[in-house]
Amino acid sequence: MQIIKMKLTELEKQKTKGLNIFIVVIISSIIYLLINIFFYTVKENIVYFELLANTILLFTTFYLIYVTQRNSTNKSGFYYYTSIGFSFLFFGLFILTLDNVYSYSEDVVKVSIKLLFVFGYSLLAIGVTKWIKYNETRQDELVIQANTDELTGLLNRRSFTKYMEFEYSKAKAQSEPFSLIILDIDFFKTVNDSHGHLVGDKVLINLANVMKSSFRNADRVSRWGGEEFAILLPKTSLKNAEVVAEKIRCKIEGSPYSHVSLSIKYTISLGVTEWLVSDVNIDDVINRADDALYQAKEDGRNCVSSIRA
Ligand code: GH3
Ligand code: MG
Ligand code: MG
Repeated sequence: MQIIKMKLTELEKQKTKGLNIFIVVIISSIIYLLINIFFYTVKENIVYFELLANTILLFTTFYLIYVTQRNSTNKSGFYYYTSIGFSFLFFGLFILTLDNVYSYSEDVVKVSIKLLFVFGYSLLAIGVTKWIKYNETRQDELVIQANTDELTGLLNRRSFTKYMEFEYSKAKAQSEPFSLIILDIDFFKTVNDSHGHLVGDKVLINLANVMKSSFRNADRVSRWGGEEFAILLPKTSLKNAEVVAEKIRCKIEGSPYSHVSLSIKYTISLGVTEWLVSDVNIDDVINRADDALYQAKEDGRNCVSSIRA
């Protein structure tokens, strides 16, 4: 609720700022037009085609000032630079248009137009560069968001599956082994029931943090769903994966979630398997790890179970 409110206030601010520049442009144009009407004489031979073309450009630029103010975000800096840039271009075009109608010193007009265009295009260039940079950063943020579990910061199931597919095709092509561990917190429902869902979430974060500091860079740790986690161990045989699984089981057993006077001890059960030449797709590997996990639960929990061929 607070976030939505904050966003609305930001939008309102943006609108007010947008309106200010708009009013400045409109008032200055009216003043300039009145100066022309009262102090200069109308040309005898007006070139109507030029007048029409400049008027169209003028309205287009006016529209662009409006659009950049209304639709761009403050964060990117695009708003400030492009709308002011378009305002300079607008005044340049305005002088150019009125030059078709009123006669005054050619040199002053030429210099003013050029100066306004130079400033206008420079500001537009800065604005567009900022917009591109902002979009690139945003794109990176979105990719990270799409691949990360919001609560724990681990890989989510979607991106983990992609890594599995990649590792699986490598294994098929080069016969390079990999192993998979699926683990599940024991009696997690009791944690939620006794301490509440929010404390349950903290326990999940605690487990994720322990795992983040326990695996190699090449290993992929993910939240598979709920209170289940999956770890992909590239270039690892089942024997070594079993050792890794037992290590993490012990580490979790000795790393309770603690907050002020509260300390929650919890354990995990783990299912381990490795890629087999006979596997048809990654689901075969996942199902085997799942079966091994089920076996670990059957064996009394807080233990590691593995399935070979
Ligand atoms: P078992 O040892 O057989 O795994 O028992 P369990 O209680 O862990 O298993 P069960 O499947 O009965 O309960 C899993 C619980 O995990 C139920 C669900 O509410 C809880 N859970 C799933 N996702 C989340 C989450 O994101 N946050 C919290 N706090 N709880 C979650
Ligand atoms: Mg469980
Ligand atoms: Mg479960």
